[in-house]
Amino acid sequence: MDDSTSLQKAAKWEGLGVAWDFETDPEFQAKLDWMDDFVRAKVEPLGMLGIHPYDVKNPRRNELVRPLQEEVRAKGLWACHLGPELGGQGFGQVKLGLMNEILGGASFAPIVFGCQAPDTGNAEIIAHYGTPEQKERYLQPLLANQIVSAFSMTEPQGGSDPTNFITHAELDGNHWKINGEKWFSTNGKWADFLIVMAVTDPDAPRHERMSMFIVPVDTPGVDILRNVGVYGQENGSESYIRYTDVRVPADHLLGEQGGAFAISQTRLGGGRVHHAMRTVGNCRRLLDAMSRRAVSRKTRTGTIADYQAVQMQIADSYIELEQFKLFVLKTAWKIDKHQNYRKVRKDIAAIKALMPKVYHDIAHRCIHIHGSLGVSNEMPFVGSLIGSMVMGIADGPTEVHKVTVAKQHLRQYRDVADPMFPDYSLLDRRARAREMYDPVEEIVEAAE
Ligand SMILES: Cc1cc2nc3c(=O)[nH]c(=O)nc-3n(C[C@H](O)[C@H](O)[C@H](O)COP(=O)(O)OP(=O)(O)OC[C@H]3O[C@@H](n4cnc5c(N)ncnc54)[C@H](O)[C@@H]3O)c2cc1C
Repeated sequence: MDDSTSLQKAAKWEGLGVAWDFETDPEFQAKLDWMDDFVRAKVEPLGMLGIHPYDVKNPRRNELVRPLQEEVRAKGLWACHLGPELGGQGFGQVKLGLMNEILGGASFAPIVFGCQAPDTGNAEIIAHYGTPEQKERYLQPLLANQIVSAFSMTEPQGGSDPTNFITHAELDGNHWKINGEKWFSTNGKWADFLIVMAVTDPDAPRHERMSMFIVPVDTPGVDILRNVGVYGQENGSESYIRYTDVRVPADHLLGEQGGAFAISQTRLGGGRVHHAMRTVGNCRRLLDAMSRRAVSRKTRTGTIADYQAVQMQIADSYIELEQFKLFVLKTAWKIDKHQNYRKVRKDIAAIKALMPKVYHDIAHRCIHIHGSLGVSNEMPFVGSLIGSMVMGIADGPTEVHKVTVAKQHLRQYRDVADPMFPDYSLLDRRARAREMYDPVEEIVEAAE
């Protein structure tokens, strides 16, 4: 057997092949390079002007954002998360991962490229579950970024466990009447419509009690009590909303009655992956900043990069980022393969749980290596630290996702009932080996 044949056999045995190719094809790489230059040169500065990316009714914002959106459209990169049937290019999740890494570092980038949360998830569920009328009235302008939307699910008394929600809706003639309070509905103050989750069937099984509604924000009874900000944000847009006898026509039910839980899982699955992709981009920028600082900050006879303690921080950040990125891309690849978020639930939950830790640790090191400048309000790094904490809470806290990982992982062991001394004990393994082969005592013992 010549070398090439044995290599081919080895490759087959290990499952190696094109699926393990880590290279980006040159044509797509050219698009990524264009995106990178465009975002750095034209999009990033928008975040420094004190206007909000989602303020679609602000003429100044539109004057600045619309031409850039047109450039993106002309390049065929608009709404890169969507398939062609909805005006995207159908890039799939792996390519989207690489694109989102670039978009993650600039606050206006997702909106300039038409793939901003939470509109992405809201569009996804209207596209999937909406009626033709709902799609025409809400989806089309949403996809064109003529309007923005909010997802109104979490309640003030607790968000981690949706079965505790009490906001409710009753049929009243040919209208639904909604009453309750929602907390942290991101972008409620900019939104044209809200997607509201409310109890409609209190006596149904726990996960079939709630339904989803499209509620135009100017419906009487929708009252934004206040707009909370994540710490450090001057003008918050996490809306605390009270719904008092809010009447929407019966056809504003989204999907099936009692189907909210399943719908929200579809929505949140994609959203979590997209957050992870953008977080890779945020971490890349932090690593870039701390590396630049390390090699340029003078100390004694050289720079702080000469100290091993600083090198350890750079190395740890690089290692953790590369691990995280590969895991995110592998999860994206699985989504492309299965076309079903539920089949990739374990890995989606795993990257969701990993994201805040990697982001936090790299942000913390970046601050530390910058010293006093790092903690100052002249650098964005403390914002990143808070951002990492947000990633551990929004879309469900880390603990809940770790439980999902563990439960999914343990499923494959469901039927295992090992005795007190399981068959992988060294005693058992030695006994089995001796049955199979002539015992060579010294070698067997030494090898173990
Ligand atoms: C920036 C931001 C944006 C958001 N945007 C939206 C939005 O657009 N729409 C929306 O509806 N919601 C939104 N949320 C709300 C988010 O989904 C909730 O904050 C989240 O589900 C947690 O709910 P909670 O804040 O009530 O925390 P709680 O449910 O009170 O949980 C607090 C803590 O308790 C612990 N805990 C809770 N449950 C468990 C468990 N099962 N096992 C172990 N420990 C547990 C965890 O440590 C958790 O962090 C947003 C949140 C943030 C921070």
